[in-house]
Amino acid sequence: MTVRTHVVIIGGGPAGLTAGIYTSRLGLDTILIEKATLGGQVAISPFIENYPGFVSIPGPELTKRFIEHAETMGVQIKVPETVIDLELKGEVKKVYTDKNTYEADAVIITTGASRRKLNVPGEKEFAGKGVSYCAVCDGAFFKGKTVAVVGGGNTAVSEALHLTQLVRKLYIVHRRDDLRAEVALKQRLLDSPNVVPLWNTIVEAIKGDTVVRKLVLRDLKKDEVFEIDVDGVFVAIGYAPNSQLAAKAGVLVDEKGYIIVNRKQETNIKGVYAAGDVTGGVMQIGVAVGEAIVAAMSAFEHVTGGWYAKKKALKAVKIDFEKLKTKEKAIEEKEKKSLFKFKL
Ligand SMILES: Cc1cc2nc3c(=O)[nH]c(=O)nc-3n(C[C@H](O)[C@H](O)[C@H](O)COP(=O)(O)OP(=O)(O)OC[C@H]3O[C@@H](n4cnc5c(N)ncnc54)[C@H](O)[C@@H]3O)c2cc1C
Repeated sequence: MTVRTHVVIIGGGPAGLTAGIYTSRLGLDTILIEKATLGGQVAISPFIENYPGFVSIPGPELTKRFIEHAETMGVQIKVPETVIDLELKGEVKKVYTDKNTYEADAVIITTGASRRKLNVPGEKEFAGKGVSYCAVCDGAFFKGKTVAVVGGGNTAVSEALHLTQLVRKLYIVHRRDDLRAEVALKQRLLDSPNVVPLWNTIVEAIKGDTVVRKLVLRDLKKDEVFEIDVDGVFVAIGYAPNSQLAAKAGVLVDEKGYIIVNRKQETNIKGVYAAGDVTGGVMQIGVAVGEAIVAAMSAFEHVTGGWYAKKKALKAVKIDFEKLKTKEKAIEEKEKKSLFKFKL
């Protein structure tokens, strides 16, 4: 089926959902396509403690609020649906998915980034059999067991903190002699009684039978190889941008594959915008959300020719305020003690 719309947003993480809230609210017909889980990386974040307005909120809870907001504003969300090809150079942009073809005046790319792999023997073989890239998704399988988290940044540390509540023993394997994570997170992890840091250490291989049993490690200072017994390995060593499709369609990317944008979040192709982790820089929710707002405003300018030019031609935004109030009440009931108030 071919569907014509004003804007297609590719990716349903914080950037995509925010862009949708804005374009929909501005009156543009907006279709958001998400291949896996709405919320993107936030949906798998154990907790978020630096998104303004929330002292501490579980990632899935924040995701729920983003989705409710986007749906209330009228974003048509297609999930699960995977974008498999793009034709972006013409005036009408074509977005091909595994289910439909979409034609749009503007496309906003918010495909985020994916976990980097260790690329060591055993990683592929034991993926899903002890090797994991998501503590929230898989942590419960390792209750009372011994695991290793590989990495030293914020992601590795927040994943490790989540796991410390579940596992008997946790090794944090890091190639440097200190964690790069925020001080507050780092301290909390290193103070946990079941955490054993292995500094200046890299993974050489993952061994097992039907499931993971051992990690083969190299101590970089002593230049010695040694093994530890583990039931699981959580890999958290950084990200690579999901920009391959965009690049194939002619969108310029930098040497690391991040989409190049200007201050209006415009790419090199007219009518094509990018926001969030896929553009690199500081990869945080607040940044993704901010960039998405700019991208949405730029897309609106492009589609309408400016606020005053064709605004009347666009459909009036229909917000179901009754539905919104019911949702507001439900949230208030659930979180009476929270500082958060859903504001109309
Ligand atoms: C464990 C963890 C903890 C974190 N903690 C924090 C924190 O405390 N504070 C903070 O600010 N940030 C945190 N982050 C980072 C934050 O989650 C990201 O910066 C943010 O999610 C980026 O949003 P995004 O929308 O750009 O990309 P993403 O969240 O990566 O979303 C991109 C979406 O695009 C989809 N997609 C990709 N390709 C396609 C395709 N071809 N078709 C359809 N859909 C596609 C993906 O499935 C994904 O859902 C954390 C991340 C992780 C993993």
